[in-house]
Amino acid sequence: MEKEICYLKSLDKRNCTGCGACYSICPQKAIQMEEDVEGFLYPQIEQTKCINCHLCENVCPINRNLLDIKPKAFSYITNSEENLKNSSSGGAFGDIVDAFYEENRTVIYGCKFDDNNCAIHFGTQDKEQIGVFKKSKYVQSNLLNVFEEIKKYLIEDYKIVFSGTPCQVSGLKSFLSKDYENLLSVDIICHGVPSQKLLDYYIMEESKKNNSKIKSLNFREKVIDKNGRYNSRNIRLNLEDGRVVIKNVKQSSYLLGFHNHLFYRPSCYFCNFAQINRDSDITIADCWGINTVNSDKDVHKGVSCVIINSDKGQKVFENMNGQKDKISINFIVNNNYSYSAPTKYHKNREKFFNNLTVDNFEKKINKYTKRSFLGKVLGYIKRIINTK
Ligand SMILES: Cc1cc2nc3c(=O)[nH]c(=O)nc-3n(C[C@H](O)[C@H](O)[C@H](O)COP(=O)(O)OP(=O)(O)OC[C@H]3O[C@@H](n4cnc5c(N)ncnc54)[C@H](O)[C@@H]3O)c2cc1C
Ligand code: SF4
Ligand code: SF4
Repeated sequence: MEKEICYLKSLDKRNCTGCGACYSICPQKAIQMEEDVEGFLYPQIEQTKCINCHLCENVCPINRNLLDIKPKAFSYITNSEENLKNSSSGGAFGDIVDAFYEENRTVIYGCKFDDNNCAIHFGTQDKEQIGVFKKSKYVQSNLLNVFEEIKKYLIEDYKIVFSGTPCQVSGLKSFLSKDYENLLSVDIICHGVPSQKLLDYYIMEESKKNNSKIKSLNFREKVIDKNGRYNSRNIRLNLEDGRVVIKNVKQSSYLLGFHNHLFYRPSCYFCNFAQINRDSDITIADCWGINTVNSDKDVHKGVSCVIINSDKGQKVFENMNGQKDKISINFIVNNNYSYSAPTKYHKNREKFFNNLTVDNFEKKINKYTKRSFLGKVLGYIKRIINTK
């Protein structure tokens, strides 16, 4: 593959995932992560503080050489009904934490929503708190100072679970620059992230429509439809006045834009981390397609796909108590596109972001995701196959 040039040198946004490894490593604290017009964070160097040590350019994971691995994969369903209900998929993440955790010497890092519905990374030593990490947040999380914090804990011999997108795991590994036996890294199969600004627009739009502020939200509400089938592609809005609003992909502008790949970070469409070789010990995802080979399993009720990438991951997996069934890597490649290839660039992405405001947000999403007749027919056939 042709060598990419780090964003700090090229200013090419395709080459920056926003992991903040450069921000974290700078000995002068000369780098700030600043929001661009689309709402994505990029590093900016304050030249007066810079001593030209080049650490920031060298730590950039964009060209990280991912070693050849021989992963093994399983479909996975937790035995805990509560964990299954509260998780996006089959509850793999919760069971991974259970299998790795040791009282008083483990810190668990993941993505949660803060009180303003902003996605951030956060660490906790309290296993009871990991509910805040469960359920996918379909927005890019801000890593803040988490990499430096993790390094400190690792040196003090704490056990760390870090969960995030593949680019965040690679950013962390690059920042740490050596292997730590006490670090367990877990990534997801990831097709891309919108910016916090877009989510803020959506929240404003829904607050206006519902005449109440949005207190909290969940992107993977598992709903049983009128045919008795589960569907997990719903957003749940908990309003401040106590009402609950649940919307599916057709009813929620944000879900529509997200699932149509309209407004991801530029680097997501050129993602170097969407490949079988990974930096993480374990990859988790939805086990899309499992219902076509085993009709007893309902991916929308929750079936995870757990991919073991390292010996450390294997040991943890052996201590997980859920229902495990071996599947082939090819099965995942065929059913979960983002496991091994970046998402295709949306032809209307630029038009969508051009002059975007909170007032035209929904209108633009509807306009630029409208599918042709042929697209609709193909989508219908795909849905029929997936629900069989
Ligand atoms: C932006 C995004 C895109 C995804 N794309 C795909 C896909 O293409 N195919 C697929 O099969 N699965 C995808 N997933 C993963 C899937 O939705 C589930 O998160 C995954 O199957 C884990 O389910 P679980 O039941 O084991 O975990 P849960 O208990 O639901 O835990 C969720 C885990 O994801 C982490 N997480 C949540 N939101 C974020 C975020 N914004 N950034 C970083 N980490 C986060 C949490 O820290 C936690 O570890 C995506 C998730 C996200 C957040
Ligand atoms: S070159 Fe060194 S001092 Fe300058 S911004 Fe990069 S890491 Fe900081
Ligand atoms: S698609 Fe790639 S670059 Fe985008 S958030 Fe996911 S792992 Fe990072």
